Amino acid sequence: MIDILPIRTQPTTASRLASVDFDHLEFGKAFSDHMFAVDFVNGEWQEAQIVPYGDMAVSPANSALHYGQAIFEGMKAYHQHDGGVALFRPLDNWARLNSSAERMCMPTISEELFMNGLRELLKLDAAWVPSAPGSSLYIRPFMFATDGFIGVRPSETYRFMIFTCPVGLYFNKPLRVRFEQKYVRSAEGGAGYAKNAGNYGAAMYPTKLAQNEGYNQLIWTDASQHQYVEESGTMNAIFVMDGKVVTPALSTSILDGVTRRSVLQLARDMGLTVEERKVGSREVMDALAAGKLEEAFGVGTAATIAPIATIGYEGHDYDLPVTGAQAFSKRVTAALDAIRTGEGADVHNWMVRI
Ligand SMILES: *Cc1c(COP(=O)(O)O)cnc(C)c1O
Repeated sequence: MIDILPIRTQPTTASRLASVDFDHLEFGKAFSDHMFAVDFVNGEWQEAQIVPYGDMAVSPANSALHYGQAIFEGMKAYHQHDGGVALFRPLDNWARLNSSAERMCMPTISEELFMNGLRELLKLDAAWVPSAPGSSLYIRPFMFATDGFIGVRPSETYRFMIFTCPVGLYFNKPLRVRFEQKYVRSAEGGAGYAKNAGNYGAAMYPTKLAQNEGYNQLIWTDASQHQYVEESGTMNAIFVMDGKVVTPALSTSILDGVTRRSVLQLARDMGLTVEERKVGSREVMDALAAGKLEEAFGVGTAATIAPIATIGYEGHDYDLPVTGAQAFSKRVTAALDAIRTGEGADVHNWMVRI
């Protein structure tokens, strides 16, 4: 099987770059000029293409629409201090895409096809990578079934695509969250560790109920007992308790976040104790009452680090202490920013230059 045919590129004749207001970017609303696409047919990936971003035709009977054979990734490229462009840990996203693909009976993709597509797309749309502090190019790789067949079985054909969106500084207004003790995002043995579309669709209703009550997000708890922390909305959850960095251990119901992994590594680099284990909602609330919960925050590619200000638990709201300049969440945000822009040393070789 020859994976690496050259990418057939059809550059746009009408760039939309000048029409985008880079000073007021709203997350996910502006799309760069081009998109990458490659089809899986007859058991192999075909010739890849880069074409102008736009609508496309699909069969109304494709099983992504009916049965949820659809997976995605979220990653970012950053304008570098010295003028270049670099991706943050793209191979982690590539590996996770493949583990999601296996869970959903979809074909995996080679590192070469993934990375070549990414590189060529970003080279062509390099002018779309914003350079203002805190801004970046959000990258959305995704794959979906394309068979025109309504029977329930894995599709035989798929399309893998990548498009990108310039995004501004994510304003991290401290979050009001509450423990969810009725609905579940995912259960042990389910597909919670995979980044498949259905996990998101099913989470919208409970999230909307919490938002109607004045919260921004939920803290999901385990499906069988509703006693242990899973994640915070679509982010992994991290707590600083009693001087230690504590987070739920990975399982089949928790998404293995690249930001989580990076924050834990930086915590260890700073000499902090990191615990990956079961974290009880009761434990968190007891620590808060005892003055031992120093920080709580969500971590993910879109927001990087989203501090939690208030936690709702069994009908009451509890405020977390206000964090100072030396808080771990602030220090780790600064350390990550420095690595991503090339201003700080990249000792773990996380950045990949385009
Ligand atoms: C994508 C995602 C995250 C964050 O993962 P990152 O790799 O850090 O962006 C966390 N939880 C869920 C459910 C997700 O889908």
